[in-house]
Amino acid sequence: MPIESQESPIQLLGLPQDNNASYLSGPSMAPARIREAFFCDSANLWTETGFDLSDQKLWQDAGDVALYGKARSDAFELIHSTITKLIKSGHQVLSLGGDHSVSFPAISAHAENHEGLSILHIDAHPDLYDDMQGNPHSHASPFARLMESGRIDRLVQVGIRTLNGHQREQAARFGVEIHEMRDLSGVASIRFDGPVYLSLDIDALDPAFAPGVSHYEPGGLSTRAVLDIIHNFDGQLIGADIVELNPHRDPGNITAMVAAKFTKEIMGRLLMDRK
Ligand code: MN
Ligand code: MN
Repeated sequence: MPIESQESPIQLLGLPQDNNASYLSGPSMAPARIREAFFCDSANLWTETGFDLSDQKLWQDAGDVALYGKARSDAFELIHSTITKLIKSGHQVLSLGGDHSVSFPAISAHAENHEGLSILHIDAHPDLYDDMQGNPHSHASPFARLMESGRIDRLVQVGIRTLNGHQREQAARFGVEIHEMRDLSGVASIRFDGPVYLSLDIDALDPAFAPGVSHYEPGGLSTRAVLDIIHNFDGQLIGADIVELNPHRDPGNITAMVAAKFTKEIMGRLLMDRK
């Protein structure tokens, strides 16, 4: 259903959940910190691509999904139903996590409404564990669950630098296309035919650029390299999430500013790709 032209096409949605993290809590505080950084007077609200995000006809803050104190399955159901509703009313959804587990219900909702969905997943970690610490829905497994659903056309990963034997097997089993950190030569020519969902884990960045994450994995992407991907990949972006910012480890809100910058540029890309 097409939305009325006076409505805001993009809905910014907070997903404050971190009870599926394997190591540290903190990402549930991220949505509020990213919003603060987004509106910080130290920067303006224009995207590099020329959209003025102070124009409230372009986007709207849909607030946070009320996840506090919810059991995992109830939280996933609520994320899924909230996003489904927004998609069905013609909106594009940009979610702010949360640990990476939130991407399972968020992407499932998109896949059910966009035939032939591909995922562009930027992360230090492939998040393909069959099971970690007895929780098959932890933040280390969302892409295993999504590939098992049979609804995902392609999973393309960028920035990976933590593959172990098990996850190599999983990647081969699901046919995942991986651009490992040690060879990014194919990234500039990433191309999709159908709709694309972007899942951006902040720990894909080198900790020097983004220290506010739970899992430091040195040797990562620069902020500019991620912006280049957001701006330039060939395909139609239809939805996205930014996950794994941990405000407990973010002195001076450096990483929150990085996440806010990505929020702006992803909004610009969504506006550009809107049909
Ligand atoms: Mn991740
Ligand atoms: Mn990660």
